[in-house]
Amino acid sequence: MLSGWRDAMGRRPWRISAKLLIISSVVTVIGFSAICVNVMLDMRRGEEALARQTLENLATTIQSDVSRNVEIYDLSLKAVASNMLLPELATVSKSIRHLILFDHATTARHFGAIQVFDAEGRLTIDASTLDPLPENRSEEDYFRVHRDKPDIGLFISRPMLFRGAYAIVLSRRISDTDGGFLGVVAGSIRFSYFHEFFDQLKLDPEDTITILKRDRTIMMRRPFDLDIIGTNLNDRRSWKADNLRIGAAYSGQGPVDPTPRLYVRSGDSGPLFVVAGKPLAAVFALWQKEAFRIGAVVLALALFVLGSTLVLAREIVRRAEAESKLEEMATTDALTGLKNRRKFDSVIDVEWRRAMRQKTPIALVMIDADHFKAYNDTFGHQAGDQVLVGIAICISDSVSRAGDCAARYGGEEFAVLLPNTSATDAFKVAEAIRTKVQGWSDEQVILTASCGVASLVPTAGMDWSVLVAAADKALYAAKAGGRNQSVIASLPQLSLVA
Ligand code: GH3
Ligand code: MG
Ligand code: MG
Repeated sequence: MLSGWRDAMGRRPWRISAKLLIISSVVTVIGFSAICVNVMLDMRRGEEALARQTLENLATTIQSDVSRNVEIYDLSLKAVASNMLLPELATVSKSIRHLILFDHATTARHFGAIQVFDAEGRLTIDASTLDPLPENRSEEDYFRVHRDKPDIGLFISRPMLFRGAYAIVLSRRISDTDGGFLGVVAGSIRFSYFHEFFDQLKLDPEDTITILKRDRTIMMRRPFDLDIIGTNLNDRRSWKADNLRIGAAYSGQGPVDPTPRLYVRSGDSGPLFVVAGKPLAAVFALWQKEAFRIGAVVLALALFVLGSTLVLAREIVRRAEAESKLEEMATTDALTGLKNRRKFDSVIDVEWRRAMRQKTPIALVMIDADHFKAYNDTFGHQAGDQVLVGIAICISDSVSRAGDCAARYGGEEFAVLLPNTSATDAFKVAEAIRTKVQGWSDEQVILTASCGVASLVPTAGMDWSVLVAAADKALYAAKAGGRNQSVIASLPQLSLVA
């Protein structure tokens, strides 16, 4: 539609179509949004990695502290178990025996007194007293396991009520030099140790710390819940074994409560391991705030850009329509609706050069109303105008090929340019027009037109005015020949095409 517009130098000015504008805007918005989403996802991954690192450090710190204490306590148990074999022990007093056995024993607050049970489970020695009350622990796990499995080493019991406080019991077998079962030495670590330890860590209320035995029995958990302590995670379907791989983080529901958390487990050194968990809501709280903020700004910008684009696109369409209307008006003859002289000149210029390049004939038919002055004088100028419109219709009806151009050449004179047309074919067109015009005549008014026809193959250096002059000359001949006829120009020297 806009293709005809050219600037003063004849160049076509660069134009942006509404469609292109909308496409480029949408692509830009999508591109920016994609970059934004990518950056936000990167930020999210960063937050997750940071939380994972923090949890891993926390789990490892707890694990190494607990393992160190278990190790120290185990050293004491080992010392008692080996010292129990000293033959002198039977001969010395109870107080000396205490000194020999429990010299290395830890006396920390959270560690229970070490006790020695004989092969029948009877309490024989208690680090806390020289004269322990009789009791029998032969039914306890920590006793039976050593009696039945000589190679078990250090045994850590399920959490249990031990001497009035919740504790886990650590025990070792006392064997004679031949491996015979002599009894068990046992001690306990109270839960107060874990409570105090966890309190020091200043964790969020929703954060979880779970201390597990290698067989996945929960030894301790924060937040503390007695019902959970002692259960085995292998029984829980929601907590698959895979989720507890070393070094792997797990996002989702935990084994105990439905809050989705990021869980990370410590390394596997020692008899216990630790899983630290943080609610995903807390892990991504900052990120979520930032993401909402950036998302809202980007959305607002995107809406603004798309909105402005639509407004701009509408304006472009409106202008394009106005321009094309203007162009249409500038190239059309107002009375007849045919092309005007200006347009005809530019079309003949283009077609002439094309015919020259392609060495094809180009034909021109000039049509002039006969005795039109007389018609005007008789019926008036307005009636004359109507006749001109009628002649234009006759011409339009006779010219149908896409490249043909019918124009009002001036006054009551018309021109029809027929590219790639011989004089014979152009003559047929001229005759068709002339016959149609004549067909309008009736008994009172005789209306006719004369046509001059010329067709030639343009050669280098030849101007199209030659064609116009030839057609004009033929028209003159038609007039001279009595009007209401078509005459073909005779121009043998100009490679006339018959
Ligand atoms: P001929 O057969 O030799 O062509 O005779 P003619 O009278 O048609 O020729 P002439 O060139 O002497 O007269 C042309 C007339 O056409 C003059 C003018 O009154 C009339 N004319 C030119 N333009 C218009 C127009 O736009 N409207 C009307 N009604 N008449 C026009
Ligand atoms: Mg005339
Ligand atoms: Mg005339």
